Amino acid sequence: PAIYAPERVNSAGMDLTDPLVIADLDTRITKALALPADGSAIVGGRDLGGDFKPVTNPADRSMTVGRVAEADAAAVDAALDAGVAAQPAWDAAGGAARAAVLEAAAVRFEADQARAFGLLAREAGKTMGDALAEIREAVDFLRYYAARARADFSRALVLPGPVGESNEIRLAGRGVFACISPWNFPLAIFTGQIAAALAAGNAVVAKPAEQTPLIAAWAVRHMLAAGVPAGVLALLPGDGARIGGRLVADARVAGVAFTGSTETARAINRGLAGRDGPIVPLIAETGGLNAMIVDSSALPEQVVADVLISAFGSAGQRCSALRLLCVQEDVAERIETMLAGAMAVLDVGDPMRLATDVGPVIDAEALAMLTDHVAALEAAGQTRIAAAPVAEATAAAGHFMAPVAYRIDSPDRLTREVFGPVLHVWRYKARDLDAVVRRINGFGYGLTMGVHSRIDQTIRRVAAVAKVGNLYVNRSMIGAVVGTQPFGGEGLSGTGPKAGGPRYLYRFATERVLSVNT
Ligand code: GLU
Repeated sequence: PAIYAPERVNSAGMDLTDPLVIADLDTRITKALALPADGSAIVGGRDLGGDFKPVTNPADRSMTVGRVAEADAAAVDAALDAGVAAQPAWDAAGGAARAAVLEAAAVRFEADQARAFGLLAREAGKTMGDALAEIREAVDFLRYYAARARADFSRALVLPGPVGESNEIRLAGRGVFACISPWNFPLAIFTGQIAAALAAGNAVVAKPAEQTPLIAAWAVRHMLAAGVPAGVLALLPGDGARIGGRLVADARVAGVAFTGSTETARAINRGLAGRDGPIVPLIAETGGLNAMIVDSSALPEQVVADVLISAFGSAGQRCSALRLLCVQEDVAERIETMLAGAMAVLDVGDPMRLATDVGPVIDAEALAMLTDHVAALEAAGQTRIAAAPVAEATAAAGHFMAPVAYRIDSPDRLTREVFGPVLHVWRYKARDLDAVVRRINGFGYGLTMGVHSRIDQTIRRVAAVAKVGNLYVNRSMIGAVVGTQPFGGEGLSGTGPKAGGPRYLYRFATERVLSVNT
């Protein structure tokens, strides 16, 4: 079959194992971090400033990374007015013109990536490897949606009809989109939502996560400097319920793109349903309760390497991350022993150190939720398989959660998404494979799943029954690549369409048909 690959290439990134590359990056990050970092509402191309508060480093609470001033009600109002006024001209400019602007933004992101590295590490606790992957993903989103805009938003499709009549269909922007994004991918998902909405001809008001306003301001300034018209893109940092709630309730908002918790997606859905004004789409990418199934034919070394990345990479703070490892009982002892050995040498600490495998979790609230969950597992008599060591000084300085694995007696111990480096291992009998998949489906989520097996029939059996958006076989189950693994789930995990996929932009657009009797 033909390969679907619109005209563009993924970001090349850089080689973080090359000492020369590292030395140069180090110097540039240090220089970039010496600059002051302020974030406030940006409306009409201007920073509005306001009452600034410190933003602190999750790896070191005593360190101030920069300052943020929350948007007020007047800023929300002004952003929506500016978007409504500026959107028609942006839409009329056409897909090719908008693509050129997004591509210019991608070039600016790459040129200034040292600053993004610094902010991602200090504000969001990203390791260097994660920061690099995130910058690349943001750049990929800009270029991918630019390519899609050029292909689908530049001309109308001519349709067949009776003699004497011409018919055509075209895509158009909907109006002002509210883009509400999470702290776990404060650059990639933030940029992806905005790039998609802009590519489709919308204006955007973006509400970044409260924890990560500075990297958001960095991205918005670059997009504006690349040529996004001032009225077309606004940034509104601040409290989710206050700013997000206000946006969702406002009839000037023509669509919402949201990534975050399932509960918040439901609240947005209710808000949109209850307000006056047009009926508009909600594009939601929410949580997951993701499992990996390992049978006795799997290669244990590969299983353990993939489990480590999937469960503990990014400190488990990915909605795609592995939460429940289902191991066929015949090989469980061996896998658990190897896993414990590998976890003992995980390096937990300052994300700016290249050797660090696992950085901090985002804040005190996240840490408390995780420690409560682990305490509940202990109280219920579940067996601790292993925990990674965390130095006392590290733990005292920031919000660090030691990666930990528990053998659980039933998948029902997992009643909700546990967003952090906690792995649950459950043993199953070979004859129960189908029932295992049905049980996982029964959680109601449907984001990612992993399978490790060398038996074709097993892989096909699982693939036929699993209700998930992304199924990964004999590899890790995180790190979807734009254009290669379009990402997103179903059920409690979201509405689709898939980010980084060929059909993502359509949901951001409306379709118009022109019929002319000639
Ligand atoms: N796209 C990311 C991945 O494949 C996860 C996104 C998220 O955590 O929201 O790992």
